[in-house]
Amino acid sequence: MSEKVCIFGSTGSIGSNSLEVIDNLNNNGLDFSVTYLTTNSSIDILSEQIRKYSPKGVAITDELSCEKFISRNNFKNLEIFKGRKGLLELSERDDFTVLISSLVGIAGLEPTINAIKKDRRIALANKETLVVGGEIVNKLIKKYSATLIPIDSEHSAIFQCLTGEKMNNVSGIILTASGGPFLNKTAEELKHVSVNDALAHPNWIMGKKITIDSATMMNKGLEIIEAKWLFNLLPSQISVVIHKQSVIHSMVEFIDGSVIAQLGIPDMKLPIQFALTFPDRVVNNFPKMDFSNPFNLTFEPPDYEKFKCLKLAMESLNSGGIYPTVLNAANEVAVELFLNKELSFTEIPELIESALNNFNDNNELSLENITETDESVRRKIKEKQKFYSK
Ligand code: MN
Repeated sequence: MSEKVCIFGSTGSIGSNSLEVIDNLNNNGLDFSVTYLTTNSSIDILSEQIRKYSPKGVAITDELSCEKFISRNNFKNLEIFKGRKGLLELSERDDFTVLISSLVGIAGLEPTINAIKKDRRIALANKETLVVGGEIVNKLIKKYSATLIPIDSEHSAIFQCLTGEKMNNVSGIILTASGGPFLNKTAEELKHVSVNDALAHPNWIMGKKITIDSATMMNKGLEIIEAKWLFNLLPSQISVVIHKQSVIHSMVEFIDGSVIAQLGIPDMKLPIQFALTFPDRVVNNFPKMDFSNPFNLTFEPPDYEKFKCLKLAMESLNSGGIYPTVLNAANEVAVELFLNKELSFTEIPELIESALNNFNDNNELSLENITETDESVRRKIKEKQKFYSK
């Protein structure tokens, strides 16, 4: 069977790993062709990818970068989709069978939703799609018989542990968290960490946004919400354990007390490949677990006071509706401000908490409502920030 792949965010960490996975699948006799690639502004990496994979079209969402790309390159028979509008247009094309959705942040929501409106496979790395739009996404998946397979390593692990099991035999899931680079810092020390300290993740090499989210543990908070929608669980069925080694990628507990875990070395290529080949598995030469030397696996409960983002995410899930959108928008702005050194590390949860506390809305969840809320939360924070920095 031949698959035509579209990658949203092909020049990022998940995107480039996905292309390596596709190389491996094709080397093993499978037939995956790359039909569409997209980037925000990494046009040099995109050009290399075009030379290697000859896609039918590309989207470049940053308009200036798109113009630069057009003036510098002259690829034959390449369709170019310009700007955010172009990306949305591409997402409505029906000539791809697999979508790898790896945009960063809420920017991934609308194009992913468009792509779901067809009977195709969605390999999802953009967790915000489910964090803010889980309820809507689940209805659409059913309506259009799309298949959603998670790429996020924890969710891939749970998906693998659940294969062949009945959901009513599941008592809960346990998401593992490395704890990030600041696990052993005191609350006082956390106040003074730098951007570079926060960008140095002990186990995973990832993009900047998710690396900061891992340091604050908001990443795990978002993953709790993501898991709720992916596996149709109650918030009370989801727990988090600190597992520093990132070897167990998550676990499922069953009603009889049995716990099933999925293990692997921390490398995104495995969950990406699984999302593309499920229910099959395909051999590869990716690094493997080595049990011939001794090593230990450790577990400890998270500190919800020190990592307040985790607590805020759980609270927003319990409030439901639009609250995860508020949480996510405030977090995206907070991370951006932190990376620009306009906010300290411990001010990240403070800013998110105040956004949640100052928000009041009981509107029904819709794409319009999500988009409006996302924009208004961002605008309000930026106005306030301007006021403080005067
Ligand atoms: Mn993850």
